[in-house]
Amino acid sequence: MKRILIVGGVAGGASAAARARRLSEEAEIVMFERGEFVSFANCGLPYHIGGDIPSRDALLLQTPQSFKRRFNVDVRVFHDVIEIDKAGKSLLVRNLLTGEERREAYDVLLLSPGAAPIRPPFPGIDSPGVHTLRNIPDMDRILAALVHDQPRHVTVVGGGFIGLEMMEALHQRQLAVTLLELSDQVMAPVDKEMANMLHARIREEGIDLRLRTGLSAIESLDVLAEKTAAVATEQRGGLRLTLSDGTRLDTGLLILAIGVKPETLLAAKAGLELGPRGGIKVDAGMRSSDPFIYAVGDAVEETDFVTGESVLIPLAGPANRQGRIAADNMLGRAETYKKTQGTAICKLFDLAVASTGLSEKRLLQLGLPFEKAYVHPGSHAGYYPGAHPVSLKLLFAPDGKIYGAQAIGKDGVDKRIDVLAVAQRAGLTVFDLQDLELTYAPPFGSAKDVINMAGFVASNHLKGDTLLCHAAEVEARHPHQQVLDVRNGPELDKLGRIPGALHIPLDELRGRLHELPRDKELLISCQVGLRGHVACRLLSQHGFKVKNLSGGFKTWQMAVME
Ligand code: FAD
Repeated sequence: MKRILIVGGVAGGASAAARARRLSEEAEIVMFERGEFVSFANCGLPYHIGGDIPSRDALLLQTPQSFKRRFNVDVRVFHDVIEIDKAGKSLLVRNLLTGEERREAYDVLLLSPGAAPIRPPFPGIDSPGVHTLRNIPDMDRILAALVHDQPRHVTVVGGGFIGLEMMEALHQRQLAVTLLELSDQVMAPVDKEMANMLHARIREEGIDLRLRTGLSAIESLDVLAEKTAAVATEQRGGLRLTLSDGTRLDTGLLILAIGVKPETLLAAKAGLELGPRGGIKVDAGMRSSDPFIYAVGDAVEETDFVTGESVLIPLAGPANRQGRIAADNMLGRAETYKKTQGTAICKLFDLAVASTGLSEKRLLQLGLPFEKAYVHPGSHAGYYPGAHPVSLKLLFAPDGKIYGAQAIGKDGVDKRIDVLAVAQRAGLTVFDLQDLELTYAPPFGSAKDVINMAGFVASNHLKGDTLLCHAAEVEARHPHQQVLDVRNGPELDKLGRIPGALHIPLDELRGRLHELPRDKELLISCQVGLRGHVACRLLSQHGFKVKNLSGGFKTWQMAVME
């Protein structure tokens, strides 16, 4: 009989335990978790804080008792694994309630210890009122502070998934929120012009978003009050933050959400090999450098689907799938984890932002030649109520290989990025996207879906039918280039215009060709790129040299705004 020990009882660990039992009724399976809870929904924590998930119990998916009943897994909560003896194939485990330490022998070991929120050594980082969010006790502490201290203003540091979710949760609780983000954009997996849409939406909600602004120091206002009389009574219990631009900000509560680092202490102490990004190194079968030790989830390095590089992708989907694969392999099967695309989605008020594969930023860093196309079609037929634009950016190689995609919108964003994630994994090209036969009826989509449209635009560009240009080229245009706006007059008045653009509405273009300079390349702009494409086809057949501004004025505006 095999004795399988598992360290960590949430996403990867619990998946592995359940899968192992489904494969073997004989194995002895013991799962150690240093916290009080196993298999809880960490992804749901911000939504309970914000009130969308009213019941705390809804986050507790399993208990040690339910795990025992259903899977006959011996779950030991409040048990911290403090040492691995590789040679002796045993663990040293401390019972955190009694302090007792015991050795536990294994035949195979699975590590799924997750990742820990990054807490830089800022002065004052340990002040009361400074929180991170990883588990149920963290959530309980934040909720207790909100109830007990009744802060009116809160500060979230970090504009990633957890930072944005916490920003929204706290805003939903009617608190004034400042969001600090050190870089020039929130939501790092998407590119800046896409993130600019998010910035606008965040500010529209009245949130004090400060980009290019980090946190430098934290002081407890209670401690300050002992030194100076300048702290008002109602500020007591709060924090005075010093920001990277030298300004001060008084706040009632601080959420640090500036990323996570893999929990590798145990693995490193045991001499397991770590990868270049500091995660546990594993092979495709999730086996570490020791043949009897497997590792999964946020603690491990994965292989990027496109580049083959080692990456850290702290997401629940990979952790769950890897747990399942590791269990298979621990029990004698030969399954492999098929690399990661980093497919992810986040809710931001009424918007969704999602991405898969590589971003433009990353492609530029890698020095890979790439092309890009933007489309903004409706989530479903425009004549059926409730359609909203899906703003989609597709990144692809000059041969049509899909590098990545990003989308923002109120509806249908998940479906489009999911389709593109599948297309990328299946090795489809942008040419294939034209042919995808996707569901259509007016409430759900369009006869030419967003995905088909993106495929048409990208393919037209690669085939040379309508070459694309982008905001950067329009902004830095040469004297031999002229922007031509083909929207209707009222649209320009209402929505704005690109400085220096000529204006001839598309429907008047055939009759006014003589007004256009033949010695210049025309950069055609419409609202979202569709009329620009029609204009390009018309003009190129009349001998003009043309390019279509991809995604039109809308994308240009996204690119030039903050
Ligand atoms: P975890 O689920 O963190 O489990 C690790 C467990 O190991 C912990 O409970 C820890 O206490 C325990 N442990 C560590 N060391 C030891 C030890 N030595 N002894 C005993 N026990 C130990 N991902 C998404 O894909 N989508 C989302 O929407 C999403 N939202 C999230 C929201 C929040 C607030 C958070 C915190 C995470 C979110 N994630 C999301 C990420 C996702 O939860 C993680 O990627 C996933 O849980 C990783 O699984 P894991 O098993 O590697 O680690």
